[in-house]
Amino acid sequence: DQVKIEIACNIGTPDEVDRVIEKNADGIGLFRTEFIYMNRNDFPSEEEQYKGYKSVAQKMEQKPVIIRTFDIGGDKELSYLDFPKEMNPFLGCRAIRFCLGRIDLFKTQLRAILRASIFGNIKIMFPMISTLEELIQVKKILEEVKESLKNEKIAFHEKVEIGMMIETPSAALLADIFAKHVDFFSIGTNDLIQYTLAVDRLNPHISHLYSPYNPAVLRSINHIIEAAHRENIWVGMCGEAAGDPRLVPVLIGMGLDEFSMSPSSVLEVKWIIQQHSKEDMKILTKKILQMTTVDQILRHLDNNVKVHI
Ligand code: PEP
Ligand code: MG
Repeated sequence: DQVKIEIACNIGTPDEVDRVIEKNADGIGLFRTEFIYMNRNDFPSEEEQYKGYKSVAQKMEQKPVIIRTFDIGGDKELSYLDFPKEMNPFLGCRAIRFCLGRIDLFKTQLRAILRASIFGNIKIMFPMISTLEELIQVKKILEEVKESLKNEKIAFHEKVEIGMMIETPSAALLADIFAKHVDFFSIGTNDLIQYTLAVDRLNPHISHLYSPYNPAVLRSINHIIEAAHRENIWVGMCGEAAGDPRLVPVLIGMGLDEFSMSPSSVLEVKWIIQQHSKEDMKILTKKILQMTTVDQILRHLDNNVKVHI
């Protein structure tokens, strides 16, 4: 029906770009840069990061490349860094919280990203934001980095777009407020589900409770999209749910603008999108949002969404 939906891919290292190009995706919706920091003996230098980000931006030509600042902590540790032992690492010093405690490392990464930004369509995204104060502090640090690059006469794209991941319940609840401070959102369902439902995403004993079909999760996603659109910003999703064939029509019905997934999901998701009109998907979504249990929702999706090519 001529409605255009953006299908992007998630990557973890610069060499994964080739698979994204092979699948003819519309961009990179999530570059998980922490993998550049892992399996080595020291932090990567600004130059090394710059070269990696630049090569991704160039290979993608003018398609968007969303670079997420590094998300260390939780289950991702660095062998060369002495992390404090935490009772609950997923609720601890992770992602942006770690960066705000090591502003030197954070600024090195931001410099590398900004310098690479003139070679393509790079956007910067911040993970695990849970308070407005954090976002304001992050934006201030970004401005400081821009200022120092200007003073050094180093080129960068002045109007580089910035976005934040929505992956904590507080960010979801305050989406209307956060939307006034960024150019886009990307919903990180992997974490949003675990924090909304209080279910550790890695604990096999409670994995039956970890569900993107939980009505609380679906309501939260719907609220985030509505809040973003009221402030005229676009909203994507880069958690696993974005590549879930049964959920894709529901997310389009909610108005999600961009989906970012593993390259292996791209063809199936494109096929599914082509099977339904946006109007049909809106009707489906309205029904789903009225349902109250995972079972009821899954049954309805199984009966109404064709998932096999
Ligand atoms: C998410 O939480 O959905 C996400 C994409 O981030 P990560 O899986 O890297 O935590
Ligand atoms: Mg996450």
